[in-house]
Amino acid sequence: MTYLSVVIPCFNEEEVLGITLSELKRELDAWLSDYEIILVDDGSEDKTWEIIKELSTTDNKIKGIRLSRNFGHQYALSCGLFHAQGAVTAIIDADLQDPPSLIKPMVEKLNDGFDVVYGRRKKRHGERAIKRLTAYWFYRVIKKLSGLNIPEDTGDFRVVSRRALDAFLKMPERHRFVRGMFAWIGFKQAAWDYDRPERAAGKTKYPILKSFLLALDAVVSFSKIPLRLATLLGFSFACFSGLYLILVIILFIFGINFPGYTSLMASILLLGGVQLICLGILGEYVGRIYEQTQFRPLFIVQETVGDLKKVVLSA
Ligand code: UDP
Ligand code: MG
Repeated sequence: MTYLSVVIPCFNEEEVLGITLSELKRELDAWLSDYEIILVDDGSEDKTWEIIKELSTTDNKIKGIRLSRNFGHQYALSCGLFHAQGAVTAIIDADLQDPPSLIKPMVEKLNDGFDVVYGRRKKRHGERAIKRLTAYWFYRVIKKLSGLNIPEDTGDFRVVSRRALDAFLKMPERHRFVRGMFAWIGFKQAAWDYDRPERAAGKTKYPILKSFLLALDAVVSFSKIPLRLATLLGFSFACFSGLYLILVIILFIFGINFPGYTSLMASILLLGGVQLICLGILGEYVGRIYEQTQFRPLFIVQETVGDLKKVVLSA
């Protein structure tokens, strides 16, 4: 059995992949010989797959999986995790933002009796203020809404034990917010604080809209609070309009009568808006039920290189 598996999802990372792998291998070779690196090419349109193939021919520790299209970061990551053989598995990004030098101390911490050691970002370098701000709120809102102890300022960078990974792999959901799923499984977990460096090369694959969709996935996958919010809104509007009606009747008895065009328009628009929002919230959940019932596989593998674990994916 392999001691350590390192899983790296890659999407259009031709500029940085070579640098990342040489740095990662230098760090790992310094303390370990029994490891595998699993690169999952998430349907890249550049030379990422060619680079992976070439690297794997000269180095049997480097293994590659090419997905049939771009399934998204969390799916590429899940795919790599399904194939990991290690007693311990590490997850890092392809762009050196998760320093490979931390894998060793994090694995050592794991061996102190933890099942998950996750990297927590103290500082973020080279990211725009808007990204930092949205990321800040992303983690705090999700923590509040999920009711789970999803750690703040923590991405997917982590080292996990075999039993933590096996627990994770038993979760059959379609919408995969991997860091939330690892929080859900429980066990003893510890944070490892680090300063997050800038991307070594290339551009971020998470523009604001994609980050927003990830946040939406996170909230809807882990929380029923938005649904309750809809109910709560309904109740408060009903109470408010009841009181308003009483007021109008009383005023009417005393002969005071408002001409009502503006207030009527305002309340119709407001209520219409609120109803649409509530329908949208409902739609998010129903849509997910629909997708979950289709039993499609999470991802499709097109090609692999290197000696990979055979994975039978039940839908
Ligand atoms: N990634 C992926 N599929 C995607 C988008 C991103 O596999 O559709 C990978 C990407 O190659 C990188 C990791 O996910 O290894 C994190 O992406 P990125 O560094 O662009 O995100 P950021 O660090 O800017 O949040
Ligand atoms: Mg990055």
